[in-house]
Amino acid sequence: MDGMHFTPGNDWPEADALVYDDAVKARTDHLYPRVKDVITPMEWPLFAPLIDAINRLKVERGATILAHNYMTPEIFNCVGDITGDSLKLAQVAAEAEEDVIVQAGVHFMAETAKILSPGKTVLIPDMEAGCSLAASITGADVRAIKAAYPHLPIVTYVNTSAEVKAYSDICCTSSNAVQVVEAAAAQWGVDTVIMIPDQYLAKNVAAQTSIKILTWKGACEVHEQFTAQDIDDLRAAHPDAVILTHPECPPDVMARADFAGSTGAMAAYVKDNSPKKAILITECSMSDNVAVENPGVQFVRPCNLCPHMKRITLKGIYEALRDMKHEVHVDPEIADMARASLQAMLDLPRLAAPPHFDTGKAPVAVPYVAV
Ligand code: SF4
Repeated sequence: MDGMHFTPGNDWPEADALVYDDAVKARTDHLYPRVKDVITPMEWPLFAPLIDAINRLKVERGATILAHNYMTPEIFNCVGDITGDSLKLAQVAAEAEEDVIVQAGVHFMAETAKILSPGKTVLIPDMEAGCSLAASITGADVRAIKAAYPHLPIVTYVNTSAEVKAYSDICCTSSNAVQVVEAAAAQWGVDTVIMIPDQYLAKNVAAQTSIKILTWKGACEVHEQFTAQDIDDLRAAHPDAVILTHPECPPDVMARADFAGSTGAMAAYVKDNSPKKAILITECSMSDNVAVENPGVQFVRPCNLCPHMKRITLKGIYEALRDMKHEVHVDPEIADMARASLQAMLDLPRLAAPPHFDTGKAPVAVPYVAV
């Protein structure tokens, strides 16, 4: 095989033995223009052999790669088959024809793919790719909340473990959170819902709806780091820029932005409006990936890295596919219960476009659940 130095007894070599030769160059040259603004010509020969090997292995293994918006540009643009935010990935995972799914994202996303596609093999390149939000709450915590508030629906962000989803009533993402909260309240005939585990998403949603919300003290370690002062400083330095925030940011950050929405909504805003200059207040790779799609927009990148997302690398994807390792399993009973919560969300009418949050709304008090 061109582009490889063979290991005896293994058709696919160790990652370090993959080389950038004429054959690899010929097979990958068409991909470089997609990432030329974020990957230098000097770096490309380091990425290209792995990109080539992964794309060939995908065909051999009958695999599809789901790449979240926070993946680095070489993964997102050069090996990802389905790209987007967590809602889109969850929906597509359920419809994928391939027998093998590689989740280029964190563990809860791989669990979601497995729950929605129980007959498929789901691999994650690094089993340690976690999430501070997912780690903030357990299934036992949700059972305790349920016991304390049996009359209220529990709306759970998809950034949670399978067990947490299993004991919840319906899931939501940052794209459809307001829609789900209002639908859950209507279905239960109540004016209050419990929304877990992201306290900031809950507070930002509460400002958009008349439904009252109780929440949990979880947070995304990436988005909670942004402060109102950061936004004020950016505004002063770049008065001509449009500032976009993710609703996992604290409410006083979102209130100072021009636009707020899920990663999908932010990407759609930039594409549809082509601002001269944009500042995305979110994870670092998001700006790189939106920049690739919008070469005419200048990006200021005051981002924070997600250490969990950054555990996913081309090398890890290659090794997972080569050895068919790091398979994600979910207890079948828990999977059935979690699937019901996810399905309740997926059964809601699909929104034509990712909605955004009105950043001008007054903050609303959102107490924590008492358990
Ligand atoms: S960016 Fe935040 S919510 Fe997303 S995986 Fe990282 S810690 Fe979790």
